[in-house]
Amino acid sequence: MPEAPDLYVVREYLERTLTGLSVTRAEALRPIVLRSLAAPLERFSEDIEGRTLDAFWRRGKFLGIELSGGADNAHRTLVVNPMLSGALQHCAPTERVSARTYLSLTLSDGSQLRYTDDDQMGMVYYLLPEQLAHAARLTEQGPDVLDEPLSLAAFTDRLKPFRGEIKGVLTRGGAVSGIGNAYADEVLFAAGIYPFKKRTSLSPAELAALHDAVYRVPADAVPLLRERMGDTIHRKVRDHLKVHGRANEACPACNSKLTHITSNGHRTDYCRQCQPGSLLGRR
Ligand SMILES: [Zn+2]
Repeated sequence: MPEAPDLYVVREYLERTLTGLSVTRAEALRPIVLRSLAAPLERFSEDIEGRTLDAFWRRGKFLGIELSGGADNAHRTLVVNPMLSGALQHCAPTERVSARTYLSLTLSDGSQLRYTDDDQMGMVYYLLPEQLAHAARLTEQGPDVLDEPLSLAAFTDRLKPFRGEIKGVLTRGGAVSGIGNAYADEVLFAAGIYPFKKRTSLSPAELAALHDAVYRVPADAVPLLRERMGDTIHRKVRDHLKVHGRANEACPACNSKLTHITSNGHRTDYCRQCQPGSLLGRR
């Protein structure tokens, strides 16, 4: 679920709210999502307790928490890759712990930062600073869609090694990072491109439209999410989306009925009129 715009706002919240707090208690309630490389898994809680949350960063669909201090006064990094189903929750310790809570950090102000995951698809890494490459795919991320936009020429060059269907090229993160299933549908709708069109078949006009949409659509979502999410950072805000999750509703551009296709377990919503193409030819 969380994509660049969601995590951008989550990171802002964490920085504003948690910077300088320390971990007083750590519980790996369901350790299966935890890859503890900085310390053996059975020593994870003991290792992280006492450390201070110094800084928070986001790269594509990953969030990082930098920690320091503790008994050995050393640095650690927590990297969260929520994939489709994970989320961070910040709440009072009295808040009910859902069965989907995998990790809980109690902080020095008494609040708790929890990692929840509905489908156990995400991963949390506990790393030494030099172990970042162990977080799968983190270091393979392309330029972020919320960073300074690449020029059209640089963007076109950037896409060249990626030859598959354009939606898959966008969501895999190697060409540009931060786009997932929902914002890929929104970006391709804004650009008027059939989601299953091969990257190699995109015309110069389509590449220009994609270049515009890939930076504009996620950036436009940030202020809206900031307002709607507030301090419920685990909440999924999706009602502003124009096509994703809206199959059978009217297209906001042409009023015809939106459609959807599920392929490889991923749902794609689009408008057959505004994003013409053929699944058979997969042009
Ligand atoms: Zn339409």
